[in-house]
Amino acid sequence: MISFNMYFPVEIMFGAGKIEQMPAICKKFGSKVFAVFDPFLKGSDLASQILKGLKKIGLGYYEFYDVVPNPRHTVIDQGAALCVKQKCDLVMAIGGGSAIDTGKAIALVSTHGGSCWDYTVRHGEKFLKPETPCLPIITAPTTAGTGTEATHISVINNAELKLKAAIINPIIYPKVSIVDPELMISVPKHIAALTGIDTFAHAFESFIANGANEWSRMLALKSMQLFSESFVASVNDSTNITAKSKMALSCTLAGYAFTQSGLCLPHAIGQPVSALTDGPHGGTLAACIPQVIEFTLPHAEADFAVVAQILDPRLNINLPASQKAQKLPDIIKSLYKQTGVTVTYKDYGLREVDIPTVVDLCFSNYLQDAKGHPRAVTKEDVFRIVKRCL
Ligand code: NAD
Repeated sequence: MISFNMYFPVEIMFGAGKIEQMPAICKKFGSKVFAVFDPFLKGSDLASQILKGLKKIGLGYYEFYDVVPNPRHTVIDQGAALCVKQKCDLVMAIGGGSAIDTGKAIALVSTHGGSCWDYTVRHGEKFLKPETPCLPIITAPTTAGTGTEATHISVINNAELKLKAAIINPIIYPKVSIVDPELMISVPKHIAALTGIDTFAHAFESFIANGANEWSRMLALKSMQLFSESFVASVNDSTNITAKSKMALSCTLAGYAFTQSGLCLPHAIGQPVSALTDGPHGGTLAACIPQVIEFTLPHAEADFAVVAQILDPRLNINLPASQKAQKLPDIIKSLYKQTGVTVTYKDYGLREVDIPTVVDLCFSNYLQDAKGHPRAVTKEDVFRIVKRCL
């Protein structure tokens, strides 16, 4: 029997050129904007046009560019202090997942105080989960990767503890997200490839996770279809706006999908590796996805067969599901090859002696993702998988 709950309070404005409406959208939610910009936008025409637009319609603003990849809790707390000092009443965040997650956490800390780290979900530790509203959040992603424009999540890196943890709280759902694929044209090729794999990971994991339901699987299927049609073209030709557009939609749908279903083993492994090495999120997922699929077979065979057929439509439709499923790791490796992705955990500085720490984190902070995997997984299994990713 079909049974699920679904919730999605974010208004998505999708399409090329929609970013022009950013000032008018901000005006609906406040009078002074805390404008979080990805550092690549410093001095850009885009930033200057948006700021001019805000001024023209009578909004004040404060610009904040101090975003770092894998956002640090200390930087976010400094941002929140500035947001309070400047008396801003809404947060606009334009950039990659790191900029948007920084903006989301700033909006929360500005109204509820303390440090953003206090609000992150950590295994066995108390954390704060307020229910009263924070500052309104408006986002515009510039990468097609994380789906954060559609999630109630902000991933934060505590570099001192070498720990990545997330605020997971419905009050940080953006009010509006403008998904404009033209903002993604400037992404360097290797970043487009790794962020694209993050999108695939969200859709794929949300499709196979134990928490998947009809709704999340519908979103995940459409997301993977769009990914299949556009990933290689969008990475190899950044001016291909049709491909960029499909990847942008794939990303937003995948973000929405995984908020409904949860994730599974690739994220349970990739997130701790990213925290320990500061490796990019998409890269630490890319390195482990084929290994996780090989470990999972023959479980989830029917789902893997569906994904294989989507990613490689030339597969003989009449092949038995078991054979299609077995081809999935090679199909994914071929996509990596076509987009120049050659990542290993060694590339990010992970050593064999670090593997037990990854395993411990996988079974503590990321236990929920590990438990969400369609094949039950032990610490020994994770050790072996990570070792193969070195
Ligand atoms: P990122 O935001 O860290 O950006 C990577 C690099 O690309 C940065 O140097 C950035 O300046 C640059 N960049 C971004 N857009 C660009 C553009 N259009 N042109 C040129 N350069 C550009 O990368 P990301 O993968 O988008 O975000 C990763 C972060 O998001 C990680 O911290 C990850 O854990 C988190 N994340 C969050 C969620 C969520 O739901 N909140 C989900 C998945 C991942």
